[in-house]
Amino acid sequence: MSEWIAFPFPKCPSCGKQWGKSYHKDCLFNGQLLVEPYQRQVKCESCSAQWYILDSKFHCSCGYQFYPSEVEDALSTTQLLRQRLLQKLNEMDSYEKSIISKSNSSFQQWIHDISYEIARALGTTISKAQEVIKNFFDKWSL
Ligand SMILES: [Zn+2]
Ligand SMILES: [Zn+2]
Repeated sequence: MSEWIAFPFPKCPSCGKQWGKSYHKDCLFNGQLLVEPYQRQVKCESCSAQWYILDSKFHCSCGYQFYPSEVEDALSTTQLLRQRLLQKLNEMDSYEKSIISKSNSSFQQWIHDISYEIARALGTTISKAQEVIKNFFDKWSL
């Protein structure tokens, strides 16, 4: 399984700004960057350049240049997974969202489905994946 999501521009250690998207610097097409949370690969949507997440370099609009080592937490698999879950929720229409927030059994079913998907991708057990997801939702309120 390979799922690409918008690569969030991490919080700049200098000015504190952050964005939901990153763009490929010096790219002919100024392409948007996507990330694969499980394989930790980054790629440009336009020119198809691809590299490992820790080989990224960030150029903030304030002029500061920084490396993933300075913002490692923001780029951890857990944080990227969180982005993925939020994106998944955003993809659902409001009807589906209201079902999930109101009905606990639908929510449990949804967690079960997505943890199966994640467990398969991460090569881990379903219960382990469920744990990660439940921890995520405990800290996140609708
Ligand atoms: Zn900055
Ligand atoms: Zn590019």
